[in-house]
Amino acid sequence: MRIGIDLGGTKIEGIALDGSSEAARIRIDTPRDDYDATLAAIVDVVAELERRTTTHATVGVGIPGTLSHTGLVKNANSTWLLGKPLRVDLERRLAREVRIANDANCFVVSEATDGAARDAAVVFGVVVGTGTGAGISVNSEVLTGPNGIAGEWGHNPLPWPEVDETPGPPCYCGKCGCIETFLSGPGMARDHETWTSLREQAPSIVAKATAGDVGALDTMARYEDRMARALAGVINVLDPDVIVLGGGMSNIDRLYDRVPAMWSRYVFAAGVDDVVRTRLVRAAHGDSSGVRGAAWLWRER
Ligand SMILES: [Zn+2]
Repeated sequence: MRIGIDLGGTKIEGIALDGSSEAARIRIDTPRDDYDATLAAIVDVVAELERRTTTHATVGVGIPGTLSHTGLVKNANSTWLLGKPLRVDLERRLAREVRIANDANCFVVSEATDGAARDAAVVFGVVVGTGTGAGISVNSEVLTGPNGIAGEWGHNPLPWPEVDETPGPPCYCGKCGCIETFLSGPGMARDHETWTSLREQAPSIVAKATAGDVGALDTMARYEDRMARALAGVINVLDPDVIVLGGGMSNIDRLYDRVPAMWSRYVFAAGVDDVVRTRLVRAAHGDSSGVRGAAWLWRER
């Protein structure tokens, strides 16, 4: 049995996986701004999952951030985790080894293991919602890198920018024109407001585009071209077999036809063989990919 924990800013979700099958699941509120209570909550979730399944399980945890080379949490927007030795503290309390990975990395492991990208060797997984997290899986193992940031393409600048896209909107990371400021849900809403003066959230813009609204259709077209450019940059560097989309924006059906139709304009292909073989697919496990991927951190190799 493998237990996965998705430690989110508002919810802690726990799952017990028996092979690929879900044996039990728990969801509780995250004790925000309280590190010790967060540790205790995770221990409680593990204990309850083990009680329900009468097993002793491995434990993997997905976090909104990553562990630095010294084992301290960094890059987390759940700021009460920053600088804390989360793995050491959890291992002591749970009396076992614990594996911890970035939540987008858990997402890509889940989809590469038994999801939309199973059987693909190299997978780029993108979670596009309020932000744009991303991770890389090679043969179903997460690629982390010495800085723990492999895949964090959301804070690269948008490639092949138009004049009106530079310097681009300010990003919380301190730079301007990051991919995240264009492709996140709030990024789409900001762009739509710039062009139409209408304040609407991404789901409403998508619905209006489906109904034929001209302003919303224009916003969608700009969004798709930007996603095509951003992912073409990934294809040029990584050349993945599959790109999996998760998060709220992955529910936009038309992305899966239109973005691959546009990215061949940007992918490096000089003349002869200009068919891009990389596939763009929607996550198979939806919102459960993060917690399933945390459990899969203990996949046998
Ligand atoms: Zn940024």
